[in-house]
Amino acid sequence: MNCPLCGKPGGEVLWQDDFCRVVLVTDTPDYPGFCRVILNRHVKEMSDLAPSDRNRLMDVVWKTEQAVRIAMNPDKINLASFGNVVPHLHWHVVPRYLDDRHFPNPIWGRPVRSAPARAMDDIGKRLRNTLQRG
Ligand SMILES: [Zn+2]
Repeated sequence: MNCPLCGKPGGEVLWQDDFCRVVLVTDTPDYPGFCRVILNRHVKEMSDLAPSDRNRLMDVVWKTEQAVRIAMNPDKINLASFGNVVPHLHWHVVPRYLDDRHFPNPIWGRPVRSAPARAMDDIGKRLRNTLQRG
């Protein structure tokens, strides 16, 4: 098996425990503050998890959503779980703005304008601090 999320963190690690991790996605410059919540072990579907583990993972998704809202002040949050390319459980937590490159389309959809410049500078630090406050 050659799974990129088993072999690598998948971004800048902001928070982790023995179950899952929150990473800042660093390869999408149009979407600063885009985070992923990644299960540490290789599991394909949410329904492969025990109910208590589903809740544990989603609690981290909710905490990440809240941290992104505080740090990024977006117009909207998009949550998504696909796993079509990498079938290892992970949730996308994407801050969206009315003037971002794809709004109102998904960020994986058709762009509708050029991307406004948004600073990436201290976003990782701000998100890390917010997540660690709990
Ligand atoms: Zn994996």
